[in-house]
Amino acid sequence: MTAAEQAAAPHRGGPFAPDLLQDRVAVVTGGSAGIGRDIAAQLLRHGARTVIASRQPERLEEAADLLLRETGHAPLTVVCDVRDGEAVRAFADRVTAEYGHADVVVNNAAANFRMPAERMTTRAFETVVDIDLIGTFNVTTAFIGPMLARGSGNVISIVVPDADRGFPNCAHAGAAKAGIVSLTASWAREWGPRGVRANAVAPGPVPTEAVMSNVFSAEGVAQGLVAGVPLGRLGTGTDIAHAVLFLASDAAAWITGTTLVVDGGQSTNSL
Ligand code: NAP
Repeated sequence: MTAAEQAAAPHRGGPFAPDLLQDRVAVVTGGSAGIGRDIAAQLLRHGARTVIASRQPERLEEAADLLLRETGHAPLTVVCDVRDGEAVRAFADRVTAEYGHADVVVNNAAANFRMPAERMTTRAFETVVDIDLIGTFNVTTAFIGPMLARGSGNVISIVVPDADRGFPNCAHAGAAKAGIVSLTASWAREWGPRGVRANAVAPGPVPTEAVMSNVFSAEGVAQGLVAGVPLGRLGTGTDIAHAVLFLASDAAAWITGTTLVVDGGQSTNSL
């Protein structure tokens, strides 16, 4: 099996001990699809009691069935729109009622679509900023109280590489992700002394269904991207999930406030 096939086959084991996150409680927003579902699969495989949250109940239940079949463990599902502060607080209360607390919060839910900057309406800008940036803020602040009280916890947010250098044709997502990187640094500095770490993971191109239809939709775009990736392939959700596992684990005990770029080396081409 090639390295790429291994990375794409989460159910065939992996580089980490199966009890890496034994009995930790992990929450993944946008865990019903794409990268978030693969993050949930790896968390479940490595012992974490895992909660997936997103808006559409049918997609959540389908994902839960798939995760159970793939990993042998069922996630808890919670319907929640991360833009809605009240719904997010109810989500945090549900997790507390079920498991007592959360150890790991993965802010993965996001939206994106291509739109030239000069045609971007306030509504389009707000839509993406509300889900990505405000959603990340809502979820983190809903879960942080008990983490600070316990003196331990991990916040991991999914961003994009080099957001401060802009995101052509996706200026809304670039601005939102740059905001999340700044939040991550503020959280790391404020909460580090109290035992809570905050980091980000920045994936390069991963051909999820959503990205293929909304961002890399023009013919040949995804394949064209491969040429710019020194490691010679697009990413998989499992590539990203491995970075999340590492940051969530005690192996990253002295890492906070950082963004781990997982992009096959693509961003070195723009240095
Ligand atoms: P995706 O397939 O579109 O999945 C997005 C997930 O978020 C879905 O589960 C969706 O479910 C949920 N979601 C969307 N809006 C939500 C809301 N308001 N409240 C709660 N959940 C919501 O996305 P992806 O491609 O896997 O990307 C995952 C993350 O990686 C995102 O943060 C993205 O920015 C980042 N990323 C992706 C790539 C890539 O190439 N794929 C590259 C860099 C960064 P519902 O619609 O049912 O709510």
